[in-house]
Amino acid sequence: MKLLEVKNLKKYFPIKQGFLVERVVGFVKAVDDVSFSVDRGKTIGIVGESGCGKTTIGKSIIRLHEVTDGEMLIDEEDTTFYFMKRKRALQYLKSKYFKNPDFDGDGSGLETYKKKIHDVFVKSDRNPSKTLNTLFENLEEKKRLLRRKAQIVFQDPMSSLNPRMTVGQMLAEPLLFHKIAEKMDDAIVMVKDLLVKVGLKAYHVDRYPHQFSGGQRQRIAVARAISVNPELIVLDEPTSALDVSVQAQIVNLFEELQEQLNAGYVFISHNLALVRFICQEVSVMYLGRIVEQGDSESIFDAPLHPYTKALLAAAPIPDPNKKRNRKDLIGGQVPSPINRPSGCFFNPRCKYRMDICTREYPQMFKVDQKHFVACHLYSTSQEQGGEK
Ligand code: SF4
Repeated sequence: MKLLEVKNLKKYFPIKQGFLVERVVGFVKAVDDVSFSVDRGKTIGIVGESGCGKTTIGKSIIRLHEVTDGEMLIDEEDTTFYFMKRKRALQYLKSKYFKNPDFDGDGSGLETYKKKIHDVFVKSDRNPSKTLNTLFENLEEKKRLLRRKAQIVFQDPMSSLNPRMTVGQMLAEPLLFHKIAEKMDDAIVMVKDLLVKVGLKAYHVDRYPHQFSGGQRQRIAVARAISVNPELIVLDEPTSALDVSVQAQIVNLFEELQEQLNAGYVFISHNLALVRFICQEVSVMYLGRIVEQGDSESIFDAPLHPYTKALLAAAPIPDPNKKRNRKDLIGGQVPSPINRPSGCFFNPRCKYRMDICTREYPQMFKVDQKHFVACHLYSTSQEQGGEK
């Protein structure tokens, strides 16, 4: 069973104009039709330039953003509507589970769909026809469980930690909220254990964030994320604000904790060397869409999309004896996400551009079992490749 399945996720931000009366004049399509999955104990990487939608995906997974469209399943349970307003949640449920209630001609299809919702979400012996009400009655508890299951570690620990709270107060909060600890005294004992687990000292419990170094603060952020025993952790550029030596310590910590918790990680980064080191699967994003997806070996050793090749060619090479692959480097700027080019979004910067590239956005094609690419170079030449 997949821990997380993201299907056709879209997150559009409206662009509003007007002073007294605001009106929507367009959308920034930050994430557009993105699909991927995460298994327990595995790490998937999401890479791409700044502004390509990586962080929006991370925030959508833990519901800091309400998604515009698409589905998110955790342990095969549809959690997409959990944080939607009731009216929108009902629209979502009806469009997904009540699409054609009269499909069998005698009207009994409606009961079939109600039963389906009942089986999927409620799982109690209450009457399926009252199931929507039951579902919304249970929603607060389901939201709380989801908050516990999925956690995030942000890039900058200084801005993600409350400067007015001691480490003890900050880490005790989720323990009390999720009823892992009954009283503050119990929570503080657990916090001390957590601090030791992430390589800090138990006496740090009474200190404030400004009394720690950057690496120590990130350890505190990690301790907060793992305090509720999550099954899924989004790591949003978790090491980019740290020195290289501290980065290595934090990455080792992530690996140790993954072994202990068997958690699935979504690792968002522009550090390709790090992604190669810790991720089993990688998705490459450009202007809100995944352009190439596959296991790490395919993406790093045999990249296909011209943008992936350009990213790898531009990555720093630590070995001075190795030569940079200059032929894959690209020029130009990332186009505005408000006004994306027609056809393939990468076409203004691509030296392999063909006529079709300016007309049609390429479908995602299966190169082999573990490797997918959205580029006309392959979809037109590889007739054996099936559409994903
Ligand atoms: Fe280049 Fe065309 Fe492939 Fe886009 S679809 S990356 S423009 S060759």
